[in-house]
Amino acid sequence: MGIIICPIHGRQMIVEICHHLHQDFLQQNSNNPRGVNEVRIRYDDIDPELNDPADHTVHYFCNDCIKKYQLPTDKPIQSIERIEQYHNAFHKKMSIVCVKCFKEYHLTVGNSL
Ligand SMILES: [Zn+2]
Ligand SMILES: [Zn+2]
Repeated sequence: MGIIICPIHGRQMIVEICHHLHQDFLQQNSNNPRGVNEVRIRYDDIDPELNDPADHTVHYFCNDCIKKYQLPTDKPIQSIERIEQYHNAFHKKMSIVCVKCFKEYHLTVGNSL
């Protein structure tokens, strides 16, 4: 988890979202045509210090990305799982935004975090 300096919220944690959601977010598109899905990713396989079972990073994906990369929304995935199939692919396309800004946007599309 990195830190971002948000013009509205100041120093904040970042959240990674797919570039489709980023477009909606930038346009503050609250019609929610793509859906907002939470995917929990565990990095303890690449960072053994993260061994708390509750320790995961939340990323957000639209419905299309969930389908395309077959991402589970019901359980955390290991970062190493299927990494060649999608992690490298989507990581390049992930956008980083202020977690508070995204939560506020998420509220306007009707899904509470
Ligand atoms: Zn997407
Ligand atoms: Zn912000």
